[in-house]
Amino acid sequence: MKLRKHYFLEEWVVVAPERRLRPHPKVGEEGAGGNGCFFCPGNEETTPPATLVLKEVDGKMVKLAEEGDHREKNWLIRCFPNKYPILSPREEMDVHGEQPLLERGAKGFHEVMVVTPDHEATPLTISLEQWKLILEACLDRCRWYAEHEFVKHISVIENRGRLAGASIEHPHLQLFALSMVPPRILKELPAFRQGCPLCELLPVEEERKERVVCATHHFLAICPWASRYPYEVWIIPRKHSSAFMDLRKKEIEELAYMLKAVLSALELAVPEISYNYSYILGPLGDENYHWKVEIYPRLTTPAGFEFSTDIMVNPIPPEEAASKLRKKLEELKATQRL
Ligand SMILES: [Zn+2]
Ligand SMILES: [Zn+2]
Repeated sequence: MKLRKHYFLEEWVVVAPERRLRPHPKVGEEGAGGNGCFFCPGNEETTPPATLVLKEVDGKMVKLAEEGDHREKNWLIRCFPNKYPILSPREEMDVHGEQPLLERGAKGFHEVMVVTPDHEATPLTISLEQWKLILEACLDRCRWYAEHEFVKHISVIENRGRLAGASIEHPHLQLFALSMVPPRILKELPAFRQGCPLCELLPVEEERKERVVCATHHFLAICPWASRYPYEVWIIPRKHSSAFMDLRKKEIEELAYMLKAVLSALELAVPEISYNYSYILGPLGDENYHWKVEIYPRLTTPAGFEFSTDIMVNPIPPEEAASKLRKKLEELKATQRL
């Protein structure tokens, strides 16, 4: 698979015809424990050997990997290479061709992390303990990628719901380790090099309160001032940090709570909502960048105006979205579901 460069901008497109072969389970065949779901317990052999399995053995959490045909059972989390990747460690990363027809190999890693054995799990039914495990598994895989010299950037995402591009319903994250810093991050870097814009906005938003969704000792969740999507939420570490991989125990606990709380409030505020969420990390080793989690609900469809101008239209003011999410959080706490 190749990355083709825009004729004259620093923008790239992955051209991956192999992705056409991706099987899609038929609707109705992918129910809980259904034989049609590749990610359900019992169907492990339909996926490549795991790079990481978390499971409990004799009351202790252990980390294992699989080889050949062996597959672990009774797992809590399972990571494995994507069978239809958009990146491959075997690709070359040099740029080939002549201006304006430039391309490079899409070198990198593309993995899947099945975050729970429960096909029907939601952010609310996933226990806080399991949320912590998910984060620990993420950190573990990110650290492994970061050991490869060619890896320059890591992206971790979840697509939830058909409108968010999820082809398999079973809750799973996708991890991408790229051999280049993506254009979106490159565009942001000059702002971070002049002093951190997130460190600047945190006290302002906290004082204004109206866009704050949830606050803990180490994190603040807000609907950003210029939210591009209805109910867009950013979860920001309060202390400047580029080192997502160095999260400490207490921070992992709080982030697990934040993710569970905010995503559950969102699913309660808008039933059947589809959304994407991403850990937005800087270039590996760049201390100017301040990482965060961004959640993009998919209630609107960008159309001609948005594509031609890069200006999004958001019908729900972030103040209104934050107020509704705060109410749903209160409901969840009052009924002891959080
Ligand atoms: Zn499943
Ligand atoms: Zn900062």
